[in-house]
Amino acid sequence: LVRLRARLARSQNTLGRGLLTLLSRERLDDETWDEIEDTLLTADVGVGPTQELVGRLRERVRVLGTRTPEELRALLREELLALVGTDLDRAVHTEGGVSESGEERPAVVLVVGVNGTGKTTTTGKLARVLVADGRSVVLGAADTFRAAAADQLQTWGQRVGARTVRGPEGGDPASVAFDAVREGIAEGADVVLVDTAGRLHTKAGLMDELGKVKRVVEKQGPVNEVLLVLDATTGQNGLVQARVFAEVVDVTGIALTKLDGTAKGGIVVAVQRELGVPVKLVGLGEGPDDLAPFDPEAFVDALIG
Ligand code: GDP
Repeated sequence: LVRLRARLARSQNTLGRGLLTLLSRERLDDETWDEIEDTLLTADVGVGPTQELVGRLRERVRVLGTRTPEELRALLREELLALVGTDLDRAVHTEGGVSESGEERPAVVLVVGVNGTGKTTTTGKLARVLVADGRSVVLGAADTFRAAAADQLQTWGQRVGARTVRGPEGGDPASVAFDAVREGIAEGADVVLVDTAGRLHTKAGLMDELGKVKRVVEKQGPVNEVLLVLDATTGQNGLVQARVFAEVVDVTGIALTKLDGTAKGGIVVAVQRELGVPVKLVGLGEGPDDLAPFDPEAFVDALIG
């Protein structure tokens, strides 16, 4: 965790430091406020949240009058925390339930998102966290379109100690998802993680595919969590894609990957605002341990260094 924090701080602190330096100027004229706005926009915070934050900062700095560096830092920290949100439910829900016939059933988590965002990697890392926590996990390789996806997931499964249910290449994703959940129930597993296909040629196509996966899985019980994987380096383009997924399935949480590779951490704020769903997990590297729960305080501290 300490290592992850250090990595987060390394990638993100240009944003917060930049803001702090600008706010510390002797005279806060309109030009400086424009620069502050630009700094936020460059970091993908988004237009609405940027204007809100700048408005609040302007007002508070004005009220404060003369300001010490410590005061400014505290003020910025408070406002950034408010923007990121400290009271959202960021838990990944993996508590199973009891079926109508009284049997215990596993929690079902669907992992959705565009190919290349880190869906399979995130599914594998999440399995690792759960298994390390003493939970038994079944993986469903429902991304049957990307040739290597099932192999990649199975490799993760072998590495962490989770069985992988897979189907024929190019087969029906919904049928693999169904089988995975059925296996999970039969084995008395705690959690079934389903890695879905993320082809986004048309919204209708996605709706057919992903909608069907969800409907078919729900025949066996509720879906506890739909995690949308979003690549932090894709900026506005990623947001557009995220919106399409959110229209197709009820996304319950966001896993923001590749935060280690960008200083544009403002996407956390933008995507939460856009989808009305909290960021729950962050990916900070390609390694098996590089997935962390999203912690607003640690994030903001990483921003302002
Ligand atoms: P999928 O097509 O969405 O399933 O994507 P993959 O899981 O295959 O990931 C695509 C690439 O992104 C792989 O090379 C991963 O190792 C890499 N990746 C995934 N998550 C992260 C992350 O948090 N940080 C970095 N730097 N790379 C990541």
